Amino acid sequence: MPGALGEYRRKRDFEVTSEPAGATDDTPAPTGGIPVELPEGIETGAFVIQQHDATRMHFDVRIEVGGVLRSWAVPKGPSYDPAVKRLAVPTEDHPLEYQHYEGVIPKGSYGGGPSLLWDRGSFVNISHDGRGRVVPLARALDKGHVSVWFRGQKLEGGWAFTRIEDRRSGGVTWLMVKRVDATADPERDVVTEMPRSVLSGLTVDELGATGGRPA
Ligand code: MN
Repeated sequence: MPGALGEYRRKRDFEVTSEPAGATDDTPAPTGGIPVELPEGIETGAFVIQQHDATRMHFDVRIEVGGVLRSWAVPKGPSYDPAVKRLAVPTEDHPLEYQHYEGVIPKGSYGGGPSLLWDRGSFVNISHDGRGRVVPLARALDKGHVSVWFRGQKLEGGWAFTRIEDRRSGGVTWLMVKRVDATADPERDVVTEMPRSVLSGLTVDELGATGGRPA
């Protein structure tokens, strides 16, 4: 729902930042996902991961849900090892246009620093309940148990997002964990192996050094 972008827009000055404001209610947003017919009940959409060197380095993992990109900031980035639990802090919904964004957010702006298109592609909702029935994405998010199958250039396979209690703050946070499937690989360190942008081929430091101008 487009109204979900209120927080995203409040935090940013679109005269200053190079980030997209997102389609307004009268401008149709671009659609993501894959152009194939899927069996009824199967949900798909676009996903993107930006490596963002802001106050602290992190990876912004975003999936298309209900016309926006639901987002988590994952400090250490994704892992292919099902034994590794990566903290995934929920952040404000982003416009669908953000799946194409790579650039340098000006210093002093919200999230100032280079934001690199680390991976993108499509995903399929594979959330299931205890009886093996598919759970719709929106309900899976509400319940705090979401599983998706990513089809990106770096991420291929199933990952789970699980809401947990954060003992330190007393609030809630999420974990991103590789599902046990044929694509799992405890030996693989994808963040170190594949640091370059899927758009420009730059590393996040090289992107930062451009100062935001095309290389
Ligand atoms: Mn970020």
